[in-house]
Amino acid sequence: MSKGIFISVDKVSKAQMLQLDICSRCALCAEYCPTYNETRDKVLIPGERSKQIMSLVKKQKGLLTFFTGPKSVSKEELSDLNKAGYLCTLCGQCTYTCPTGIQTTNLWLTLRNILFEAGVSPQPMKDFSKILSENYNFLGHSNTERADWVDFRLKFNKRKIKKLDEKRRSELRYVELRKEDILKREADVVYFIGCNSSFFKGLSGAADAMVHILNAAGEKATILGEDEWCCGYPFLLAGNIKKFEEFVRHNLGEFKKRKADTVVFTCAGCYKTFKHEVPEILGIESNLNFLHSSQLIEIYFKEGKLPSLPEEQEELVITYHDPCDIGRYGLIYEEPREILRKVNVTLKEMRDTKEKALCCGGGGLMKAVNKELTNKIAVKRAQQVVETKASRVCSGCPSCESTLKEGLQNLGAKVRVLDITEIIAEKLGLLP
Ligand code: SF4
Ligand code: SF4
Repeated sequence: MSKGIFISVDKVSKAQMLQLDICSRCALCAEYCPTYNETRDKVLIPGERSKQIMSLVKKQKGLLTFFTGPKSVSKEELSDLNKAGYLCTLCGQCTYTCPTGIQTTNLWLTLRNILFEAGVSPQPMKDFSKILSENYNFLGHSNTERADWVDFRLKFNKRKIKKLDEKRRSELRYVELRKEDILKREADVVYFIGCNSSFFKGLSGAADAMVHILNAAGEKATILGEDEWCCGYPFLLAGNIKKFEEFVRHNLGEFKKRKADTVVFTCAGCYKTFKHEVPEILGIESNLNFLHSSQLIEIYFKEGKLPSLPEEQEELVITYHDPCDIGRYGLIYEEPREILRKVNVTLKEMRDTKEKALCCGGGGLMKAVNKELTNKIAVKRAQQVVETKASRVCSGCPSCESTLKEGLQNLGAKVRVLDITEIIAEKLGLLP
């Protein structure tokens, strides 16, 4: 066989070939694709992405290869394939819009998988995968530091309480929680925090709020501390399915050890991983109840475990950003809005919301490959936030939170970005 780049396409199923064939003749969803809209690069039109995959499959396994053998892929073709696979936020707009119901994001993930396994994926994906494999978190920190946010938030809350006026201080139901209070050997609920809120101090507010909410609801809950590994989703996004499975199995084992029946997530990506990707991609079924924080909090309000606030409370104008991973993928639209109503905030919707919500730009690990493109999309979403004139924007995903912060900063807008759990905990007086 002559030298060149050869890529195994065995992962592309017959059903996917049919979908690729249909999709590659169409461009109906192009105007909804955020990466195409920002770049106007034809390769990024979803139908064109499919065309790239089709032509790769034909080169490696098509009828003519019976006589000629697989053909090598040129550097230009490889560059386009990498763009098609990785310059995508996996926002799901194409899947949602597609009139033929093609599961496009599965096609893009398959492409990532074949590029990664052929060793030709973008370098940041390989580096990312290596750091994650060695450290169990994508930041490269020691995993023993997973619960250090608890000490940080304790000090942070103390400082904040000192600054409160007498009235607000007297209304507080804040309880100081230490690591030993929230690390248990057995529990009914495991709170899976995720790498972002565990390691980035600026994103640890969600973790703090969630543990205080669980505590206030009287839940027998635990976090996993250093036994929590990354959920594995970044491996899936990089295309490294083997490592994805290894990390998923580890975490499932830890849930089992705690004898939990429910696992709750403040990270939309971690939630999507266990709720949807694990059964659909790995075929691993579990009898655990996987819930996003907004779903569990809604249950607490319904069961009276958390008190709804009376309507005369001071009104706070907030807008809510639907994370793609719980929105279009999980259809969790009403629960976050419902719990915001329970604490009496005024919700101002953005122009594009729920199924049509604009991606924040940070999904699909695109930030690691093209930060500039992520920033452009984030600014667009930030503009929609500003249009609402809300003083705060909240979401149900730390990754959206961090991308929206950057988008608003680039716009020079002074809107506070918080996790939805922080709004609930603050309004209920569980946090200062
Ligand atoms: S995903 Fe659906 S709408 Fe978009 S190009 Fe493919 S077939 Fe057309
Ligand atoms: S998932 Fe989003 S970014 Fe990716 S191709 Fe579809 S619409 Fe474009």
